Amino acid sequence: MKVPLLDLKKQYHSIKEEILTVAEQIFESQYFILGPRVEALEKDIAGYCSSKHALGVSSGTDALLISLMATDIASQHTVITTPYTFFATAGSIFRTGARPIFVDIDPDTYNMSPEGLENVIDSMTDNELARLKAVIPVHLYGQCADMDPILKIAEEYHLVVIEDAAQAIGAEYRGRRAGSMGDLGCFSFFPSKNLGAFGDGGMVTTDSDELYDKLRILRVHGSHPKYYHQLAGGNFRLDAFQAAVVSVKLKHLDTWTKARQENASKYRKLFADSGIDDVIKLPVEKEDRHIYNQFVICVKDKRDDLRLFLNEAGVGTEIYYPIPMHLQECFLDLNYKKGDFPVAEHAALHTLALPVYPELSDDQLTYVVEKIEAFYKHKG
Ligand SMILES: *Cc1c(COP(=O)(O)O)cnc(C)c1O
Repeated sequence: MKVPLLDLKKQYHSIKEEILTVAEQIFESQYFILGPRVEALEKDIAGYCSSKHALGVSSGTDALLISLMATDIASQHTVITTPYTFFATAGSIFRTGARPIFVDIDPDTYNMSPEGLENVIDSMTDNELARLKAVIPVHLYGQCADMDPILKIAEEYHLVVIEDAAQAIGAEYRGRRAGSMGDLGCFSFFPSKNLGAFGDGGMVTTDSDELYDKLRILRVHGSHPKYYHQLAGGNFRLDAFQAAVVSVKLKHLDTWTKARQENASKYRKLFADSGIDDVIKLPVEKEDRHIYNQFVICVKDKRDDLRLFLNEAGVGTEIYYPIPMHLQECFLDLNYKKGDFPVAEHAALHTLALPVYPELSDDQLTYVVEKIEAFYKHKG
């Protein structure tokens, strides 16, 4: 049996007619960049994410970059984030010239540890505190970071809060939606995200009229009015076609999210019955509405052998993320070293993402767990 990590073709075939209809309309109109399709999607995403404004941008990475630019983060600043995330979070901070500062993660959720945040701030000198400008919690794998203590600390130290919600559209924390809790929320429509375009795309959410106006200007090179530049922005525009695809998919998102959550529940039951639950730690659901962009298990040992074994059995898996940010070559100058963030380093060595996409069948889920069971019972 084949169980790929993700199979987007199944999803495409379920919405093919709708997609082809909008594609034809856009091709006939020959109107490709920003415009009414993007505006319609922005309105819908703002509503879906309980934010006053949403601004379509070119990718999740650019959502982070333009958010940092809109809050005037530059080379004299530092920004705190987690070392256990997709590169774009730390990379965007670095690209503004600011220095990323990492804090370790919670071992259950893999999200930024609020205690870690508090400790790093407590250890700062007055000069260091003066440079510190923002914090970027990441809602990893589809579950929100523990935002209340993070927001409290941010308020106390006047930090901008940018939520990296690229993996968490529609996730909730104590009744609040991902992207609606900080000053800015960043989303990605990369095809493998829960709400994916047919290419790159992203969105920034905010309740602030002032930030929204600035983001709009930065999105078009800082041009306002046209050809007059008070700010130096970039080309952060979203395509009409990508917006139209995402609009079609948004109508199905809650159904797909439910299917992901049901798959996660089925995995839990299958693992509980498997008799290997002592060597495998399942994802811990701490916050409400985990949307399961990934279903990530943590195994005691032989993670890489397990991955090879599953691959040979036709089961796709992935390691998110094998090298924490503080150990990446391009960040060597930040002077971090192995051992600085033990929880993130442990996760990098022991976690494995299993297929959890909505269209998986019960037989496929059963097969995945059977193969993991076979590995640890016979080969392990
Ligand atoms: C995917 C992702 C991004 C970047 O989004 P792109 O659209 O690929 O640029 C940023 N942060 C996290 C946590 C992501 O998962």
